[in-house]
This record gives sequence, structure tokens and C-alpha cells, in this order.
Amino acid sequence: MAFFAEAASPYLPLGKTAYLTSSFGESRGTRYHAGIDLSTNMEEGWPVLAPSDGAVEFAARGAFGYGRHIKFKAKDEHIWLFAHLSEFSPKIDSLIHREMLKKEKANVHLSLKLRFKKGDTLAYSGSTGIGNPHLHVERRTSNGKVALNPCKMMQCTDTIAPYILDAAPFDSGFAIKIVDYSREPLENPMSVYSLDVFQGKKLIFSKKYDSLPFAPDKMAKIKEDLLNVQDPDTVSDWHFIKAKGGKNIMAVAKDFANNVSKKELVIRSDSLKLKDKDTAIVFLDTVPPSLGKVFLKTDFAGKVQCRIPVLDSLAGGLDFDSVDFRDKNGKWVIFDFHYNTKELLVEKRDFDFKEPLSLKLCGKTKACKEEKIKCE
Ligand SMILES: [Zn+2]
Repeated sequence: MAFFAEAASPYLPLGKTAYLTSSFGESRGTRYHAGIDLSTNMEEGWPVLAPSDGAVEFAARGAFGYGRHIKFKAKDEHIWLFAHLSEFSPKIDSLIHREMLKKEKANVHLSLKLRFKKGDTLAYSGSTGIGNPHLHVERRTSNGKVALNPCKMMQCTDTIAPYILDAAPFDSGFAIKIVDYSREPLENPMSVYSLDVFQGKKLIFSKKYDSLPFAPDKMAKIKEDLLNVQDPDTVSDWHFIKAKGGKNIMAVAKDFANNVSKKELVIRSDSLKLKDKDTAIVFLDTVPPSLGKVFLKTDFAGKVQCRIPVLDSLAGGLDFDSVDFRDKNGKWVIFDFHYNTKELLVEKRDFDFKEPLSLKLCGKTKACKEEKIKCE
């Protein structure tokens, strides 16, 4: 069953149907997933289209978190956020490029106002800031404080009803373990859209994931809703029900496409225990990173890139503190990196690849390495 949006024709951010790999309201440990993830078949470079006439008001490049992302103010004043992008559209790209040169920094952000028409290409999907390629889509109220379920405006296909798996006492109430999948194979566990709990005929709990408060302090309150419990199963969510358990308890869980599951609950006798707080691990990195052999590659958008593999003493990945590329005149050169690619990328835009490039790379403990590189 497909969920059809309130809008006359549902918005397709990628211009074609793409299946969900994460739903709105999923637990991310201490916070909610405030948007949805759309599959790009593990590819990069799918055009991301404007949902209506409007303007891109913010663009940022980052190596972590959202990675490259933009905020788009739509005609209805709501804000759309698209994250993990590989490229911006040329108009945004040239402004970001200018800012990078000005700040001599790879990761910059910018407030702007660039108008686009409905269906225009705003950017291209990618994997910046995260492990594998997909498009993260958020929709927020105009003040940015409430995250709205993007599936209200889109077609979010889900063919499998939620699984209600278990129930156990917790605190002064109880918790219900649920997981939802949108399609076969069952590899992307999701959260449900709504959960109603009845005792006999009486409704004792009701929750619908249409919106989530976005303020960071409010997001943290996930502990009172989806519990971070000690459980070897990490794919299901434990929903906390602030009501006395007992007999004749019925749970009704719905997904975004209105597939329904009902189950009479047998509440276990053993209480759930919350996970201990994760303690921060401190690494001591004493050896500077080392460089692999440089090679040239053309990316999907036709940009020639000089790719420089980096090995670091910690996990064999990028864990350095700072990178600085300069051409022979000492001018800063635009570069790029992902936290997971173990590569530094330099674009053939601001300097001649035939010239040597000087690179200064510093590890976390400030052990630095300076090297001359030639991209050929
Ligand atoms: Zn996401």
C-alpha cells in the first residue's frame, strides 16, 4: 500500500520514486531522526529537485554530520533541508567556492538567497558526512523549531506492517518493542508512524509522529519516549508507555502507509534496564599521517580531481586535525575530504595540476607532516 500525500501530486525529491531507508522519528540513541532517508541505489550524483518555487537560504560544507547540505524555503514558508550532498548546483557552488577561498577553509557555511523554480536542480545527492550514499530530507516549520514528517508531502512507500515483538515493565509503566520495515529484504529497520495502546476498550496511550520539536534540549527528551535499553537487538525501538500495565493490553501500531498491526500484549516480569552512559574514548595519536600514491579521477559531474590516499596511525582513516594545501605561490587551494573515504581530494579549479602542490597535514596531537605532491 502506498501513502498518498495531502498535496495534489506528491513531491519526489529525486524526480523518481525512491524507497525509504530510514523513517521520521527513528531513535538515534539520544535524539530522533528528524527527517527521512531516501535510497539512491548506493550511487552519488542524483539531482535533488526543488519542491516548489522558493529560495535556497543556506548552504554548508562539512565533513561530518549533515556533510554538504542546503536549506530551501518553499512557497508555503516551510523549510526543506537536504543533506549528504555531493555537489551543489552551479549558482550555489560558485558562492561557496568564493567563501572557501576567502576563509581558506574547506568547511564553510553561508546564508544566501538564490531563487529557484519548482523542479529545478538544487544540488546532487552524495555521501558527505556519512557512510553510504543516500539523500536525507527534512521539512521544518518556517521558524525552524519543529521538524515535520516529510511523508505528508511525498509518497513514502511501505508494504510491510510493523512487528510488535515484546513488552516489559519499565519505571512506573511499561515499554513495547516494535520494528517496522518498508520492503523486502528486511534490512532497514524503521520507526512506526503511530502507536495506540488500549486496556480493554479504554485508550491509555496514543502517539502520532507527525512532528517533533527541533530545539536540541527537546530532542534530548527521547529518553522519555524511545528507551535506550540494554538489549542485544539493536534494530527495534522500545516505546515507553506511561501507564500501568496489567491484563487485556492491546497495542495498535501503524506505519506511514497505513499498514496496521494489532497485538494483545503479555508483559514480561523482568524490568528493562537503561544502557549505561557511553563513556568517551580518548585516543592518543603520536604518529603523523602518511600519504599513499596520488591518482587522478573524474567525478560524476565531470570535475577532474587529484585524489590523495591518507593513512593515519589510529584506524587507518582520516583523523587529522588540520590540512593545508598551497600552490607554488603560497595561494590556498580548494580541497575536500570525507571522514570515511580515507582520501583528500583536490579539484582542478584553482591551480594547474602540472605544478607541484605543498601539503601540510597535522594529526590530533599536532604531529605534522609537510610534503610536495604532483597530481599526475
Ligand atoms: Zn537521515
